[in-house]
Amino acid sequence: MFARRLDNLPPYLFARIDALKAEKIKEGIDVIDFGIGDPDLPTPPHIVDALITAAKDPANHHYPSYLGMNAFREAVATWYERRFGVCADPFTEVISLMGSKDGVAHIPEVLVNPGDFVLAPGPGYPVYQTGTLFAEGNVHTMPLTEENSFLPILEDIPKEICRKARLMWLNYPNNPTSAVAPLSFYEEAVAFAREHDIVIVSDNAYSEVSYDGYRAPSFLEADGALEVGIEMHSLSKTYNMTGWRVGMAVGNARVIQGLGTVKTNVDSGVFNPVQYAAIAALNGSQECVAQACAIYQKRRDVLVSGLQHLGFDISCPKATFYLWVPVTGSLSFAATMLEKAGIVVTPGIGFGEAGEGYVRFALTQPVERITAALERMGEIL
Ligand SMILES: *Cc1c(COP(=O)(O)O)cnc(C)c1O
Repeated sequence: MFARRLDNLPPYLFARIDALKAEKIKEGIDVIDFGIGDPDLPTPPHIVDALITAAKDPANHHYPSYLGMNAFREAVATWYERRFGVCADPFTEVISLMGSKDGVAHIPEVLVNPGDFVLAPGPGYPVYQTGTLFAEGNVHTMPLTEENSFLPILEDIPKEICRKARLMWLNYPNNPTSAVAPLSFYEEAVAFAREHDIVIVSDNAYSEVSYDGYRAPSFLEADGALEVGIEMHSLSKTYNMTGWRVGMAVGNARVIQGLGTVKTNVDSGVFNPVQYAAIAALNGSQECVAQACAIYQKRRDVLVSGLQHLGFDISCPKATFYLWVPVTGSLSFAATMLEKAGIVVTPGIGFGEAGEGYVRFALTQPVERITAALERMGEIL
């Protein structure tokens, strides 16, 4: 009944954990879930208020513009300039997205012909792979290893793959490894993209979730980046807005135009009141972002020192709300944690084979729950 395309999707490896979790909850176990890559904190009130006000205006009840309201695209351009010193034209180099996942899933339709290659990090956000498969492209995994600070080694990509590659994904601060990239790496990537005529798409969803004074750069800060690529960004992680579905793509005008062409044919844009809320978020005080980071930082410190105490070899990440923790056998480790301690962690293999040997903890639980989880782990390990 289904098209062959669906057969090509990788097996859903989280299914076993999900089933086990549901079983535990049914048994009355108080499950502590570190599997969720979704902020537990609420969207700040000034952003919610902007939605409410806009939602009451019937002028906003119609189809939105496909590419984003002018005011939204201007707010994005202004934010990119203020935050990263990147100058992008709001009307040719910025487009709205229904969350960055929308852009991630659809950009292969713009760039990839059947049989072309897409270079994607492994471990990595699963949609880099599935979006490629929907466009009937092939994925070449760029392994991210601890020895190389979880950065891909561009010279290691075989020359024949480079010739057939149309698109390279970069994602820093990185999900799931929590690694960060220096601007010099982005400069290297721009040179590589020029040499091989590859479009770079940077996924910068976590640029604002950072600690200890670290400020993540944008790929677009690299010299020449606007000639070779774009960046996807999102309000989801920065302003606790995962449910709102609003993000943006910024960068090379040709690529943005292509993405606009695909999106015009598959969706009808972001609900205007949601765009007004996004404008309030981008233009408003960024104090709420600093407060959220301070909360994650406290949780990070408690969880990292607790896990170190239990013998895990980890250090404090500079960004993202994830810990990438080395274990032997990620699926069996995750299953044991759930079975014996009622704790959910994400097995690394769910992020591709290169994720094996690790589990991911998300810092989306309050300190009391983290402390309780560490106690339970102390009893079973
Ligand atoms: C959360 C996440 C996204 C998608 O977020 P949206 O809610 O769709 O904006 C994209 N990339 C990575 C790596 C993520 O973790």
